[in-house]
Formats: sequence, C-alpha cells, structure tokens
Amino acid sequence: MKPIHFAAALAAGLAVAATPVWARPKKATTVAAAPSALAPAEQAASLRDAALKDNNAYEFVAELTTRFGARPAGSASETAAAQWSAEQLKAMGFDNVRIETFPLEIWQRGDEQLEMVGPFPQKLIATALGGSGTTPPQGVEAEAVLFETYDRFNTSTIDLKGKIVVILQPTVATQTGVGYGVNSGSVRRQGPEIARQRGAVGYIMRSLGTHDHRFPHTGGTRFLGADGVPAMAISPPDAEQLERVLKLQKDGKAGPIRLKMLSTPKFLGTGQSQNVIAEITGAKRPQEIITIGGHLDSWDLGTGAIDDGAGVAITMAAAKTILDSKVRPDRTIRVVFWGSEEVSQPNDRGLTGANAYATAYRAEFPNHIIAAESDFGAGVVYSLSLPATDSTDFTKQIGNVLYPLGIFVDKAVSTGGGPDTTPLFNAGVPVMDLNQDGMDYFDTHHTPDDVLERIDPVKMDQNVAAWAATVWLIAATDVKFKGVAPAN
Ligand SMILES: [Zn+2]
Repeated sequence: MKPIHFAAALAAGLAVAATPVWARPKKATTVAAAPSALAPAEQAASLRDAALKDNNAYEFVAELTTRFGARPAGSASETAAAQWSAEQLKAMGFDNVRIETFPLEIWQRGDEQLEMVGPFPQKLIATALGGSGTTPPQGVEAEAVLFETYDRFNTSTIDLKGKIVVILQPTVATQTGVGYGVNSGSVRRQGPEIARQRGAVGYIMRSLGTHDHRFPHTGGTRFLGADGVPAMAISPPDAEQLERVLKLQKDGKAGPIRLKMLSTPKFLGTGQSQNVIAEITGAKRPQEIITIGGHLDSWDLGTGAIDDGAGVAITMAAAKTILDSKVRPDRTIRVVFWGSEEVSQPNDRGLTGANAYATAYRAEFPNHIIAAESDFGAGVVYSLSLPATDSTDFTKQIGNVLYPLGIFVDKAVSTGGGPDTTPLFNAGVPVMDLNQDGMDYFDTHHTPDDVLERIDPVKMDQNVAAWAATVWLIAATDVKFKGVAPAN
C-alpha cells in the first residue's frame, strides 16, 4: 500500500463502518488561536487532529524497511539503520540525538531443512529459533516423539535420548496477545533447553502463529552455555500434517515418524549493537523525563515492518507532531530506538539494548515520570492503561481527548509498558500501555511476511494521534504516577 493521507483514505473508501474520529470525514481544520494559548488538554486534542492528517509514521517505516530490509541484532544492517535514524531525527529538529553502543553476542542463521523421512517422506517448512544450536553439517536423523501439548512433554517420563521432540501446541489468537504470551515462555524459550537436558538431539515446535499459511515463525529461545540443541519452528499446516500422521500411527495405520533436521546457525562472537536516543527538551522541568520508543532490530526473515518498524515510527511521529507544533512541553520527551530486543544471549540473558539503557540512566530513574514502548504492530489502539495516579482530573482529561479516537481509559493499573521498558518497570518506573488490537498480529509476526504491506497507514495514524495526545498531556502538566515494581 502506498502512503495514503487520511482524507485520501476516506475518498478511497477505506474508512470502516463504525466511524470514530480517526476514520471520519473532516472539514478543513481552522487554525486555532496560537497553540501556546491553549490549555494542555485543548492542545492535546489539536495534536491528535494534526497527527490524523499526517503519514509521518508510515513514510518513516516505509523508508526504513526499504533501505535496510531485515535488521538482525548486531548486524551491519541494524547499525546502518541506527545511523540513518539518527540523521533523520537530527534533521527533524530533535535535541541531543545520540547513538549509544553496547556489546552483543551475535547469532546467525545457517542452512536449514526439515523432512519427514518416514513413514510418509516429504519436505516440511521450518526455520531455526534464534540462539538455537547446530546439527552436524549433514544433519541429524532420528525418531520423533510428538506431544500434543507442552505440558504433556514437560510432565512425561518417556526416554527422549537420541530422539527429536515435537511440540504441536497451537497458539490462540486474542486481542491482547496473551495467547502468544502463554506459549512463548514455555514452548519456545524453555522447551529446547529441557529437551537437551533429557538427551534429545533436536526440538521442533509448532510456530507461535495464529494463521494457517505455510510460514514458519522464528523467535528467540533460552539457552545455557554455547551448545544448545538444534531447535526449529514448523509452519502451522506442517504441524497439522504431523498431527494427522500421529493419529494414523495411534490407529495402527502408520509406522514411527522419523525426521531429518538440518540447521547450522552459529555464534559469530562478540560484536556490538546500539540504542538511538533523541529528545524534546522540556521548557520548564527538563530533568523530568518521559521515555517512549520501539525497537529497531528485527528478525532476519521479513523486513521488520510490524515488529518493530511500526513501533519506532509511531512513537517518533508522535514526538515529531509535538515538535512541529512549536510548543515546548514542560517535561522532556525522550524517544528511544532500542537495539537488540529480539535476541537471547548466553545463560538466559536478553533485552540487551533495554538493559544497556537502564544501566546508563539508572541515576535518572527517580525523575522518569513514565515509560512506554510501542511493540505490537500498527493495529488500532482501543484502550489506555495508566499507572496509578492520584490525579482523577488527568484521567478525565485524557479520556475526553482519546474517546473520539475509539479509545477508552482502562481502570486497571498498567504493569506492562513493553519489553524494552521491563528493566525500568522492575526498577519502579511507572509504565503505560496504549493497547492495540492484536487479533491478526501473530499471523505474520517473526515470519517472512512481516513486510510493509501488513501496515494500514490509516490505522497507523490513529496510533500516532493517541501517542501524541497522551504523551503531550503528561509532558505539559505536573501529573504524577506511581510505579509498581514487582517484589523480588
Ligand atoms: Zn518486537
């Protein structure tokens, strides 16, 4: 899809039937009195409407994904994307634009093939999990032990020595993404290491995807030390194929399932990755900081449009809308493009960019008013979850600004914020979420199909409008939030 401005989208009939403000025809907005004369909530509404008329986010993510394609953590592509982003942010007029580097163990995919050699020989579509181990160059062939659920695998006492473990558990599509959340920790992160400890020679899982197309979904796994078990994800139709073979086997109509895996990724050694940081310096209380952003790295299979080109573009464009209004907020707005969100590191570490940011800015945490990341594609925002606050006035005001976008203010206190704000949240920094509709996010997340065509520019503008209004109202007032750091 080409960049489409909001009005053009309406003309093209792209607006949906239920028409919140972001999808409704608008008369030309008259320029209000000098923006500085507006009350903060009025200015928030004006920024909201300005964002709806722009495609800054879409234009940015289109150029980012075109110039750099995939941006694996620690790759030359990720570094070049960071340098280009910093130049763009400077040209837009952001303050204190900088790149902060940190070391990273770099994992690179190798050759990969999977086939069922018996009882019904055929090729299967599979891809290696990030951080997983390697097979011998000629591959490994073994009998497969199939489990319909992860729990059956985890509680079974079957001897897995010399076997290939296969987990067939599907991922349930949900608006919030919780269906992915319950599987990513167990099936993808823990499973391969447990299989290794039980003597298995390989680990295959049904992709954590909610579609039935023949794409495998990659993603990081957890590993201890350098010799992980070879681990791959197969496409959902291939998992269902194996499930049917299993049924025939149980009915005595087929012999044992034998698989041949070839996957030769490797760790290239220590390299580096980086965070890109830009600010709008607060006019009255610059030491008070609102941190927003997304992550610049992506998996290697697609071009990282929804994960997470969208998030960096949405938060950047929201800040740019504020910058372009020429009215300075009281507090500093800091935009961070985190590096290396996706990849695991030896001994179960990860979120390397987020941790580098947390280490560098720990002294500022008492002055971090709030933090939030956009890392869920470009589907519409339907609710705002805030941290605890005593200011009911703030909650009412932001509700009035967001309702016309089809967004309500959730009563539950936010404990999310995004993966890269986790170290901040854990240190007591308040976090918020602009919750997006994720029903189709895991259809293409971490697949070759994570490309620009998955982004709807009209929905993306609604995101920018919500972020611009919310961030502004926090930055232009003295609202205070309370963090809820988990007890250790
Ligand atoms: Zn992501």
